[in-house]
Amino acid sequence: MDCTFTPSRCHVDLAALRRNFARLGEAASLMPVIKSDAYGHGLLPVASTLAAAGARRFAVGTVSEGVALRQIGLNQQILPLLGALSPEDWHHAARCHLTLPLENEDDLRMAAQLTDGGSRLQVAIKCDTGMGRLGFARQDLPAVLETLRARPGLEPVLALSHLACADSPEEQAYTQAQAECFAAMSASLRAAFPAMERSLCNSAGTLGLSAYHYEACRVGLALYGGDPFGAQCPAAAMPELEWVMSVSAPVIRVRRLKTGQSLSYGRIFTAPRDMSVAVLAAGYATGVPRALSNNMDVLLDGRRVPQVGRICMSMLMVDVSSLPAVQAGDVAWILGGPTATGQRAVTAQELADDLDTIPYEILCRLGSENPRIYY
Ligand SMILES: *Cc1c(COP(=O)(O)O)cnc(C)c1O
Repeated sequence: MDCTFTPSRCHVDLAALRRNFARLGEAASLMPVIKSDAYGHGLLPVASTLAAAGARRFAVGTVSEGVALRQIGLNQQILPLLGALSPEDWHHAARCHLTLPLENEDDLRMAAQLTDGGSRLQVAIKCDTGMGRLGFARQDLPAVLETLRARPGLEPVLALSHLACADSPEEQAYTQAQAECFAAMSASLRAAFPAMERSLCNSAGTLGLSAYHYEACRVGLALYGGDPFGAQCPAAAMPELEWVMSVSAPVIRVRRLKTGQSLSYGRIFTAPRDMSVAVLAAGYATGVPRALSNNMDVLLDGRRVPQVGRICMSMLMVDVSSLPAVQAGDVAWILGGPTATGQRAVTAQELADDLDTIPYEILCRLGSENPRIYY
């Protein structure tokens, strides 16, 4: 095994990933989003698993991620969402037949130049319908179409846009306006290039807006088991999704604390009674947010126990007074893990809610900070 600074582990259940993929729709109409190392789950294992399950397209983050997929022999359509960011990126993208998103005049010019030498380039036209970040505005399209027509080496294969608040029912009107704008923009692109496909939806759109699925739904969070609406507001036809990631940490010590004894940095916890405390080998260096100190549960022996005291760099403590059998060498679960009857595993959603963030951030963090094991 590689040298590692941590005994905690990120467990990735590829069978659960396959089941989520199958629950989200037809393989051909999904474009799994595997940017940022597949939201911390690992780019290559996730891509190979989904390719074997029938995925025909992938959205990665960078051109390098796309090149890595080609290097393991995947021949799906690959869209690097960040586009080409350097001259090398442009050349790699052309050489590896990636589908490059073009989002402004400079992109269009660079892409056109690349085809001067006779190479062909598949491109996606990114439309800004209200995200306000990247993409052509509606009034830019005539100039875009003019360039595309003049450059037969450029092959526009996809029109795409991104929804800013498909996960907020109270923003329904905004989402509707974005969808209408995309319908108009993609229609003018397709009037010139009828073979262009369309993609508008992220996970929230895929689950909540069946009228706007078009040819490809870009599913990210839902693939990894997350509910883009959060626990508060499930979509009407929410399929049963399973979390793909769990995170374990060994118990390295169990000790007694006497009433009034304080624990860990800053003494933010003092034993209210005689108690047993287990020390786990996981901490903020391994992706457990320090801000959750005194405010999270951990699963041990299938049961939830409260975390106590400041979370340290590579240790954290839990109150195991209710679990007298726990001993050093036992496995605790920061996320997921096997539950006893009537107990719920800790989820990335729950940690995110307590931190006023979203499960995406928790998954990226725990996944990138821990050695991964695949099932
Ligand atoms: C990340 C991303 C997605 C996927 O979003 P989820 O909410 O995870 O489904 C889709 N499209 C674009 C452009 C993205 O950046």
